[in-house]
Amino acid sequence: MKESVNPATGEVIASYDEMSEEELHTIAQNAREAQQKWKKRPFDERASLLQAVADRLEEHKDEYAELMAKEMGKPLLQGISESEKCAWVCRYYADNGEEFLDDELIESDARKSYITYNPLGTVLAIMPWNFPFWQLFRFAAPALMAGNAAILKHASNVTGCALAIEELLHEAGIPENLFRTVIAGSEQAQKLIKHKDIAAVTLTGSTRAGKAVAGTAGSELKKSVLELGGSDPYIILADADIEKAAETCVTSRLINSGQSCIAAKRFIVVEDNFRPFLEAVISKMEEKKAGDPFEESTDIGPMARESLRNELHQQVQKSIDAGANCVLGGAIPDQEGAYYPATILTNVGEGMPAYHEELFGPVASVITVENERDAITVANSTNYGLGAAIFSEDVTHAERIAAQELEAGCCFVNDFVKSDPRLPFGGIKESGFGRELSHVGIREFVNVKTVYCA
Ligand code: NAP
Repeated sequence: MKESVNPATGEVIASYDEMSEEELHTIAQNAREAQQKWKKRPFDERASLLQAVADRLEEHKDEYAELMAKEMGKPLLQGISESEKCAWVCRYYADNGEEFLDDELIESDARKSYITYNPLGTVLAIMPWNFPFWQLFRFAAPALMAGNAAILKHASNVTGCALAIEELLHEAGIPENLFRTVIAGSEQAQKLIKHKDIAAVTLTGSTRAGKAVAGTAGSELKKSVLELGGSDPYIILADADIEKAAETCVTSRLINSGQSCIAAKRFIVVEDNFRPFLEAVISKMEEKKAGDPFEESTDIGPMARESLRNELHQQVQKSIDAGANCVLGGAIPDQEGAYYPATILTNVGEGMPAYHEELFGPVASVITVENERDAITVANSTNYGLGAAIFSEDVTHAERIAAQELEAGCCFVNDFVKSDPRLPFGGIKESGFGRELSHVGIREFVNVKTVYCA
């Protein structure tokens, strides 16, 4: 049984029975059959269906935002933007997918030789709750455009969103068996990975889940893409524009109430900037309004589940016990709901959860370093490698560090890390492997086939 609980009130909104093994088997079998027909449909037909999906996402964005607010506490305006971004990624692949998968002629000894891209089959998508629509669409738009089928196993607390996504795709004309949502736990997901009709798996989620999913996929020799956690470093160099850096760091840290894989998690500041930067960060964090996700003025909603809020608080407490200073927030508010205040820890160093672990909530860790070299060393001294950012008025110098020295999949200069359908997205080290988005993302779930005609 899966329960959706409103994290702002603790009220159970709905409960859902998990599907039986037999139902899951039938869904996988039917998806395979649907995919065999789908892959033969011309690109322009697939593209027009994706455009219809985008239309629906835009038309119903208020409804989807309400659903996200109820199930995982996302402030309403952020849910509306999420729906719009999903429409963008659908249109992007509808417009560009065919070109990205065009045959590529290559000169060789053959009369004719080339690369052609064939879909792999059915891809199982195991998704997290934090961007319940976006995470799915950034995978599904290219995967469907490439001719694959998809089965969604969503996080257990957002089953309402998962069913709404299935309904919207079907209403837009995507064949019923080509895209299905399954209501299943992680054990059943593991069995599905092994199912003969599942060709590949993609997981967006924690590193722990990533290791489990990659292990099973590996044992079956099935392709996997893993988009996992992060502890993104934001380096503020001596010559940075402090106000702008602080504003950007705070915005990034508080996106989705702090529950974003690519949020700024460690602010690494050279000593001379520490005081002015900290003051700017405190004042900007204090300005953010926490409260009811249904209020348009709310910046920070509740966290998605009470258990997640409690885990975060423990990480904060342990960091303080190990010597960090809490200069803002840090206490569970005396009110109903899974709320946690915007929190700042300074004096963060080795051995503390705030230094080594992912803090998945509105908590900023400030780490002070002597110079640029130390900043880069600290930035890279993590098991994660998802995003990173660097702030400096010498853009050429910062760009060199971003391009050559920071160990992460997405490195930004004077801005916060964000996903964009036109640019590849993904991590290295324990943040996963493979890429989503851009022309690179659509080539993950395809057979890169060599054709050689003597
Ligand atoms: P999670 O606990 O890892 O869950 C993610 C999904 O994996 C859920 O559907 C979950 O199912 C499933 N799952 C968990 N363990 C599994 C297993 N052993 N086998 C198969 N499936 C399993 O993560 P979350 O709490 O939902 O999301 C937060 C994490 O996701 C953070 O670490 C965040 O950084 C990461 N994330 C990464 C990206 C990225 O693009 N790199 C984007 C967003 C989030 P149940 O819900 O049923 O347990």
